[in-house]
Amino acid sequence: MKYKLTKKQKKMTIRIIIALALLAVIAVTLHFIELPWWAELFLYAIPYAIAGYDVLKTAFINQIHGQIFDEKFLMMVATVGAFGTGEYPEASLVMLFYQVGELFQSIAVGRSRKSIAKLMDIRPDSATVIRDGEEIEVSPEDVEVGEIIIVVNQAALTGESAPVDKAYSDNVISGTLNLTGVIKVRTTSTFGQSTVSKILELVENASDKKAKVENFITKFARYYTPAVVIAAVLLAVIPPLFLGIGNWEIWKTWLTRACVFLVVSCPCALVVSVPLSFFGGIGGASKDGILIKGAGYMEVLSKIDTVVFDKTGTLTKGVFEVDDVHPNIVSVAELKDIAACCESFSSHPVAQSIVRAHEGHIDKSLIGDVNEIAGKGVKAVVDGKTYYCGNGQLMDMCGAKWHDCHLTGTIIHVARETDGDVEYLGHIIINDQIKEDSEAAIKELKSVGVKRLVMLTGDKKSVAENVANKLGLTGFFAELLPADKVSKVEELLSTEKGRLAFVGDGINDAPVLMRADCGIAMGAMGSDAAIESADVVLMDDKPSKIADAMKIARKTMRIVWENIIFALGVKAVILILGAFGIANMWIAVFGDVGVLIIAILNAMRCMKKISK
Ligand code: ADP
Ligand code: MG
Repeated sequence: MKYKLTKKQKKMTIRIIIALALLAVIAVTLHFIELPWWAELFLYAIPYAIAGYDVLKTAFINQIHGQIFDEKFLMMVATVGAFGTGEYPEASLVMLFYQVGELFQSIAVGRSRKSIAKLMDIRPDSATVIRDGEEIEVSPEDVEVGEIIIVVNQAALTGESAPVDKAYSDNVISGTLNLTGVIKVRTTSTFGQSTVSKILELVENASDKKAKVENFITKFARYYTPAVVIAAVLLAVIPPLFLGIGNWEIWKTWLTRACVFLVVSCPCALVVSVPLSFFGGIGGASKDGILIKGAGYMEVLSKIDTVVFDKTGTLTKGVFEVDDVHPNIVSVAELKDIAACCESFSSHPVAQSIVRAHEGHIDKSLIGDVNEIAGKGVKAVVDGKTYYCGNGQLMDMCGAKWHDCHLTGTIIHVARETDGDVEYLGHIIINDQIKEDSEAAIKELKSVGVKRLVMLTGDKKSVAENVANKLGLTGFFAELLPADKVSKVEELLSTEKGRLAFVGDGINDAPVLMRADCGIAMGAMGSDAAIESADVVLMDDKPSKIADAMKIARKTMRIVWENIIFALGVKAVILILGAFGIANMWIAVFGDVGVLIIAILNAMRCMKKISK
């Protein structure tokens, strides 16, 4: 990917080149001509000032504002110290290299920002609306609900490259592109509420949710830097006091060592590379259609040993087919009609399937007082009569004399209430299919070391058992109400050391998504509530992406720790060598700028896409 330098970065590059050229000329000249020390000092101070005047300025201003002991301060003290001990060329070069490091860092951050932005670059600049029969271009914010817009593959959102067919009356999500022909779409929400806007907002705010390591590094830097400064002062002062107070050569030696100490000790490699790794990891995951809402969840994802699934819409397609209709005292058509009317306002997959299977027209004006009882079904008034439509628990609730069905599947019972009397009208047998991807998802989760794979469902035990056995889950709990799901998750949370993820589509399970260590929601099929209450969103509804998310998280955490150990290790060695006078200023510069650059390059590996 091409990256264009910003104005500031260009200016810095030019300053570095000029300072370096000047430094070379001065060094060569002084090789042939002998000058007094003050003249040499003056000459070397010129490239030093060209390269580092802003560092000196910021270091000064920060001291005035009470922000003492930052890296710029360390640089200032170290280089001024080097001038003081007569190491003029070293002082100039240290400043120059420091600026090279800063430039490099700024380019790296700019690049990963840009690639995240690019990956999320699905925000349209304009929309083509049809107004008064004419096509006009307007800004997306100005499109109103109900207007017809001319479109545009869901690839950007789901990360999938296969085109999706859309027919009349299908829903089209924002970010959709059209491949062939022209399609007209009626808007159902404004730009601000669209899926794309929500996702962008989430990624941009991801830095709010910091990881523990990140907070640790910030705190660490706060104590570490002053400690190093104090150590450097002691190193410059104590040994000469014992070895020869009156001897300038001894003072000079220890001052030089203290300067080396200061240069190496700069914690910027950690302060920069740790957040950059997380940032890169979140960016890399979104290339795979996985949205991770913050670095904190990256940490949690890497430690998951229990995954709890919701059944409908998560492991199964959530698209039920009506297999059979068994009416009691009404006709088949009547039963289907009543059920469809009751369900016509519900977004539950069961409800949508029953409505879809209904051939005739549903007169919504006849339907009133709809009450959805989560995990049970709906109660609604249709044409003046009260109906109950849902599972066995709902039938027990209203007091209907219901009976189970000999067929396998999810059974939706219907009952009518007249003057306190409840009549059982029969049931509809519907069946869902396991997602093609679910089996592979479970296998992969097992292979990445997840110990417990549990399914929770409000559906019947026989249906749940069937799915659990087919997929090879380690356990399942059926006939649960949404509140029971929360307490089951709490039970599971308390029995294992590792972290627990709950995966759901968010219909009826937003509270469980919030309760789990990591709530994972299905993005395309799931509700807005799910996308909002979840910590991780799988844009293409594929459960196999959970294992991918865990792999990305572990890779990111590994890189973060590599950087921490590498930076601290190299610095510790050079600090010790510096204190004993074995490491000189050149090695110190590597210990600072070199380590920073290597850590940045390593952090950038997080950006790479993991899937095939
Ligand atoms: P799951 O745990 O499988 O996602 P829910 O907790 O959402 O299921 O629902 C559990 C059961 O409650 C469903 O299997 C269905 O029998 C019944 N149910 C829920 N909502 C409805 C509805 N709108 N209409 C009919 N039955 C419903
Ligand atoms: Mg559900």
